[in-house]
Amino acid sequence: MSKKIYLDYAATTPVDKEVFRAMKPYFSEKFGNAMSIHSFGQEALVAIDKARSALAKFFHATTAEIIFTSGATESNNLAVKGIIKSYQTQSGSQKRKPHIITTSFEHHCVLYACRSMAKEGLAEVTYVKPGKDGLIKAADIKRAIRSNTILVSVMHVNNEIGTVQPIAEIGKMIGLINKEQRTKNPSFKIIFHTDATQAINYFDCNVDKLGVDLLSLSAHKIYGPKGVGMLYIRKGTPIRHIQDGGDQEFRMRAGTHNVAGIVGLGKAIELVAKNSTRETPRIKNLRDYLIKKVLKEISKAKLNGSKIKRSPNNANFTFADVEGEGLILSLDTERIAASTGSACSSGALTPSHVLLSIGLKPEEAHGSLRMTLGKYTTKKEIDVAIAKLKAVIGRLRKISGRILSDYYSGK
Ligand code: PMP
Repeated sequence: MSKKIYLDYAATTPVDKEVFRAMKPYFSEKFGNAMSIHSFGQEALVAIDKARSALAKFFHATTAEIIFTSGATESNNLAVKGIIKSYQTQSGSQKRKPHIITTSFEHHCVLYACRSMAKEGLAEVTYVKPGKDGLIKAADIKRAIRSNTILVSVMHVNNEIGTVQPIAEIGKMIGLINKEQRTKNPSFKIIFHTDATQAINYFDCNVDKLGVDLLSLSAHKIYGPKGVGMLYIRKGTPIRHIQDGGDQEFRMRAGTHNVAGIVGLGKAIELVAKNSTRETPRIKNLRDYLIKKVLKEISKAKLNGSKIKRSPNNANFTFADVEGEGLILSLDTERIAASTGSACSSGALTPSHVLLSIGLKPEEAHGSLRMTLGKYTTKKEIDVAIAKLKAVIGRLRKISGRILSDYYSGK
């Protein structure tokens, strides 16, 4: 049987062998709780500190600004809710309700965290829409700012269409507004958060260059393990913990450390720093080849999102007269793994909020396919995938054509 082909690296990545090797001792040999003061605990703490240093180096931050979490979902919840909670405790009831600006095509963990703040009556939220190219304009964010805006959250790379948002430009604009406003009101500050989960492998995430106060990630998108992530919190950012318990993570995130996971994340980030300059152009070339061939060889195919401001590993297509779920299942029987959008919402037949937000009609969103490449993707795999995709789409269109003609002829 032919080898399976994995083209769903945006959903998750395999753990790199080097990462796995680094993690292994922290399950059964070096199993201490990092909060214990005996040598078992200290051994674990040293390993966590090492990982924290690797992350601080990568983001050009200090170690005290790195908070380990269970993944980007938790990091994003902590960012949004922690900022609102801190504002509530700082402010008297006479203060206005705080305002959050985010975008309509964020990952659900950001969207729903904002929505729940609004539902609880704790914040007002503005959802800025991307253009048809899947890009947010810094000017639209600026226009949405009000005197009570305290948080702006814009994702770095969209997980479905791979479009790259102008984070540094937004960061600079917010920095200028903060500076200007502080002359009138010394406590004025808009905090800027980015969900960089899909950006780490391919883009410079120096927090000063981006101008962000908060940045989230998940280890399993960068060849690390599942269930561990990080929130960068710039020193001085007014944020409160949202989970009560122990004193871990500078009292910002209670709960026993996932030591092996954290070690894995530390190693994964070291490997990104070491290898991404070499790997990125190769992946981008393969991705460009894939897009070009699909658009040339498959009729009624369209690329979703900007072709240029796009993550090097992402291709997202809409095929007319094809139903996405059927396409994924047919490809799966051909031993090719791809996705219709975000893995979290696949299975549900509601069209992707990302594709709708860039102006696709529900039927177009249903006929979409996301193929995401990674460091183990080969040219041969791409060639096989294109050939199979072409055959599967041909088959599905024949069936849907037949169903439609039966329908119209009243059979
Ligand atoms: N944000 C983005 C942009 C993502 O792609 C994902 C994973 N699909 C998440 C957040 C959530 O990550 P996790 O499920 O690891 O918490």
